Amino acid sequence: IRQLVVVLGDQLDSRASWRHDFDSEQDALWMAEVAAESRYVWSHKQRIALFLSAMRHFAREREEEGLNLFYTTLEETDPRNTLGSLLEKFLKDHDVGVVKMVLPGEWRVLDLLRKAVDRSGVDLEILPDHHFFSSPEDFEEWAAGRKQLRMEYFYRELRKKESVLMTQDGDPLQGRWNFDEENRESFGKEGPTDVPKPYQPRQDDITREVFALVEERFGDHPGSLEDFSWPVTEAEAGRALEDFIEHRLESFGNVQDAMWTGEPFLFHSRISSALNLKLLDPRRAVEKAEEAYRSGMVPIAAAEGFIRQILGWREYVRGVYWHLMPEYRDRNELEAEEELPEFYWTGKAPMRCLSEVVDQTLRWGYAHHIQRLMVTGLYSLLLGVRPQKVHEWYLAVYIDAVEWVELPNTLGMSQYGDGGVMASKPYIASGKYIQRMSNYCQECQFNPVKAVGEDACPFTTLYWDFLDRHQDRLQDNRRMQFQVKNLSRKTSDELGKIRKRAQEIRQNSGIPA
Ligand code: FAD
Ligand code: SF4
Repeated sequence: IRQLVVVLGDQLDSRASWRHDFDSEQDALWMAEVAAESRYVWSHKQRIALFLSAMRHFAREREEEGLNLFYTTLEETDPRNTLGSLLEKFLKDHDVGVVKMVLPGEWRVLDLLRKAVDRSGVDLEILPDHHFFSSPEDFEEWAAGRKQLRMEYFYRELRKKESVLMTQDGDPLQGRWNFDEENRESFGKEGPTDVPKPYQPRQDDITREVFALVEERFGDHPGSLEDFSWPVTEAEAGRALEDFIEHRLESFGNVQDAMWTGEPFLFHSRISSALNLKLLDPRRAVEKAEEAYRSGMVPIAAAEGFIRQILGWREYVRGVYWHLMPEYRDRNELEAEEELPEFYWTGKAPMRCLSEVVDQTLRWGYAHHIQRLMVTGLYSLLLGVRPQKVHEWYLAVYIDAVEWVELPNTLGMSQYGDGGVMASKPYIASGKYIQRMSNYCQECQFNPVKAVGEDACPFTTLYWDFLDRHQDRLQDNRRMQFQVKNLSRKTSDELGKIRKRAQEIRQNSGIPA
């Protein structure tokens, strides 16, 4: 074999960079299903099924094209094998000139494959990942000498470089870079109307076989396969995008942050897993959204709000990840040491917002951004859970979780574990934020306005407790001064009661006694 191209489960891009120099006569693809990768964190059943089904579809399509492929299924391997040990064995049994692979989505996987190839005495070439608009090197260059790495400025650079939503003179369309302020409406009292049902790909034989395998091998893992509805091929990913652009993008913009009971998807695109497995090209998503605006189908706030997530946040978090790994994973700026409460794995909690978001997560492997940031993420931040425990949960339960995107969002943006690289201040709020952005509080036994008393909302209690515990650190942050000042208005009697109740919540696995 002249060159062996390793393709991982999140690299299912049929036009990836290995294509340019792939000769079916002399070269081969190598793929392996490894149980250890599903057990590395306690993965949701849908997440395992998604990776396996998408890998098998990718393999079938490449074989139909006539490409030479070595594929090892889960059934064929000893459960103790790792990706590294399987590759090492393959390299021992075959004469391989060079191993090539596109940069993996996880530092750990890069490290273990590098070591495996190294032990085999074969050369390894890491190929650039053309899926993204920017490379880790671009980010390094941009970050060099900057005191703060703010997403907004990285996003503006990419808007200019890619000519997205720009005038011919090089200005942002409508004279503004950002329509963030128009993206924060709630649904009011009536709730959302006419939420379109999202596109549901049909399950074929490959997916059904994978379901049986997941039930057999990973039956005790969290979540259920019943409502699996994620794209597993490039064709399905394309249809999911079209469906979003046509039916939901128009409303996506202004209610992007809103939440509602029984409506897990609302006007969100549901394309993150297809993007992260590389079944969908982000350029296509950005182009389609811009086209929808230019043709008058959707307002600019909707198109820009969506494009900012992909061209801005998604590229930026990947830059942060490769810029700061591997030490980034261990950061714990707030010295948070609590365990993650058990109800994160079961949904059994009297707090309506948390039970709703966790139930939905277990059922679909999905929650939208604000549910992740301002419900589950906020609660663990306020409780003081160790960020690495929170990271393991997010990596396990979400269908779109790949470490390069999950870790900066969780440890950095949501838990402030990096001390302000991702977020200029901790994303903290009391229960009143959740009350404003959803209808959860209407159906809850707690009162979001109250910090003490039997029916006090635990978010509100823990919000004041958080400010109290961290006020020395926070008062130097200009953006936190208003909140810290409000804390100083609390009487010592009230503060004493808040501290006591917060302690009781912590001692009772995150639930008010
Ligand atoms: P939409 O709301 O329709 O947004 C469109 C697309 O923009 C998404 O598909 C996604 O690709 C991109 N995007 C949006 N926000 C972000 C962001 N903050 N960072 C990177 N890309 C973004 N996203 C993941 O893809 N994988 C993760 O493991 C992940 N973990 C997260 C953990 C936490 C604690 C938080 C707060 C956010 C996390 N996100 C993650 C970001 C975001 O929540 C999801 O991308 C989004 O909810 C996916 O749903 P959607 O496709 O319907 O997105
Ligand atoms: Fe959540 Fe508090 Fe509202 Fe209950 S009152 S739903 S715990 S924010």
